[in-house]
Amino acid sequence: MDLIIGSHVSFNSSEQLLGSVKETLGYGATTFMFYTGAPQNTVRVPINLELTKEALILMSENNIDIKNVVVHAPYIINLANSNNFDFNVRFLKEELSRVEALGVDKLVLHPGSHVNLGVDVGIKNIVDSLNMALDDDTKVTICLETMAGKGTELGKSFDEIKKIIDGVKLKDKIGVCMDTCHLNDAGYDLKDFDTILDEFDKIVGLKYLKVIHINDSKNLISTHKDRHENIGFGTIGFDTLINIIYNDRLKGIPKILETPYVEKYPPYKYEIEMIRNKKFNPNLKEDILK
Ligand code: FE
Ligand code: FE
Ligand code: ZN
Repeated sequence: MDLIIGSHVSFNSSEQLLGSVKETLGYGATTFMFYTGAPQNTVRVPINLELTKEALILMSENNIDIKNVVVHAPYIINLANSNNFDFNVRFLKEELSRVEALGVDKLVLHPGSHVNLGVDVGIKNIVDSLNMALDDDTKVTICLETMAGKGTELGKSFDEIKKIIDGVKLKDKIGVCMDTCHLNDAGYDLKDFDTILDEFDKIVGLKYLKVIHINDSKNLISTHKDRHENIGFGTIGFDTLINIIYNDRLKGIPKILETPYVEKYPPYKYEIEMIRNKKFNPNLKEDILK
């Protein structure tokens, strides 16, 4: 099977999904992830069915399977915070229907930060919000992202992810998105990824793993920072990331790059090329700026 690799791409109001697909094709990618609007706010335009149809045709012409495409929920939504409970649930429901209208079936979500409520109350709020937002007709899987543990972020360990899933009633509508930068910063040593997968399988269950964010990290293991670095330029390193990308147990799972732009240029075409060649290019950043 061909590698399912792509990156974060934009979704603008004029071209919507069609623009995202065009950007993806420019990177030589086989999948992509996007926000349905600005990640830092909840302003959203209605989904245009004509543009969606055109995008789906362009995808099938280029062998991009919609099943591998991912939407990321805005990070402004904090389900762990009970003050905005009604707003959070309403927004999440609307986002689920937008994602469904686009034909996408994976929505990545940051579990949330408990701020001063404590871990247990935070997790309870997340569980309650998810149970309110999901119903039998929900076609989208909400993929809880593993977090770096910056501030009071929840989902920084497989145990916390497990606690959230335990509380959700409709478990077939829940998945997990691992983020390599976040795992490193949270304290997981990614050098032997099979051990990490064994641990995840034991605590959460490998069947829940639906998406992997592939990022290097600017910081050392356990620093709880969450600053992404370009592939091979950080503390995780090229070989470790390649071993994760090509791990047999992760074959059908979409891998998404969320690495930083080099000045104002997207690095994804160059990074995907390195990944396909399995060869690190130490001049990547200079090549992008050329
Ligand atoms: Fe994320
Ligand atoms: Fe991520
Ligand atoms: Zn991050």
